[in-house]
Amino acid sequence: MTAADPPARAQVTVARLRELGLTPDTRLGQHFLVDDNLVRVALRLAELRTDDVVLEVGPGLAVLTAALADAVRLVHAVEIDRRLAPALERTLEHHGNVRLHWGDALALDLAALDPRPSAFVSNLPYQVSTPLIVESLGGLPQLERWAVMVQREAAERLFAQAGTPAYGAVSVLMRLACERTGAHAVSRAVFAPPPNVDSTLIGFRRRSDWGALRDAWPQIVRVVHGAFSHRRKTLVNALVLSGTASRSVAEAALAELGVPPGIRAEALEPERYPFLAERL
Ligand code: SAM
Repeated sequence: MTAADPPARAQVTVARLRELGLTPDTRLGQHFLVDDNLVRVALRLAELRTDDVVLEVGPGLAVLTAALADAVRLVHAVEIDRRLAPALERTLEHHGNVRLHWGDALALDLAALDPRPSAFVSNLPYQVSTPLIVESLGGLPQLERWAVMVQREAAERLFAQAGTPAYGAVSVLMRLACERTGAHAVSRAVFAPPPNVDSTLIGFRRRSDWGALRDAWPQIVRVVHGAFSHRRKTLVNALVLSGTASRSVAEAALAELGVPPGIRAEALEPERYPFLAERL
């Protein structure tokens, strides 16, 4: 067994945490990656270039961060848990191209990061992974590529097809902004401590035609969320109940789209939503 084998790495991680007097805080999704091979897969999925600036949310003990720093120009690492400061600072002593930002990634102004990130590579804290990804689509418009570890069900929702149970507002927004480049099922054994859920490392890149939607994006996000706000209702009723549109305007827009007036949000393909957003 080599140092790269998950069980050996896990022992090193557990020993390191003990040495630092740290108990992983699972409320913060602290399941540390103990498989070097997966770190390589993440870097490959993100199609990194040496001039990339990477955003990493949740560097933890900096296993992924150090590998990213070796591969790209600069890494912005955003960590909420200050107990990790000694470990992070020690690991990163030899990586002058990592900037640590302390705080909640959902609350910090990531758009103010300078230089701006071109890729988002993270083993994400699962409780905030979907809002972080969705917010990054419009909030960080210069992001081109993503490789993120998320809970398996969350990964399924990201690129779900219309008409399937997993299809929702997130799937519509993701499929309008991005195309999937790859996905790897990930065993629970590659984390210390192991989580109670399965994971997927998923890669995607910004669609080349996304620029055409950029100005309308806030309105598209509003309409898509309104459309899926009441899943048991028709699309028109959901738009009315959520205060997104009046009944007459919503009905006229659907008629123009040439879809049945009683259609539900989950039956409408992603490409139809920008038109709907424009008409509402
Ligand atoms: N990157 C490390 C690894 O792969 O071993 C740790 C990943 S662990 C799944 C998630 C990390 O995100 C933890 O370090 C946790 O403290 C941090 N975290 C949790 N919520 C956060 C938030 N809202 N903003 C920034 N970091 C957060």
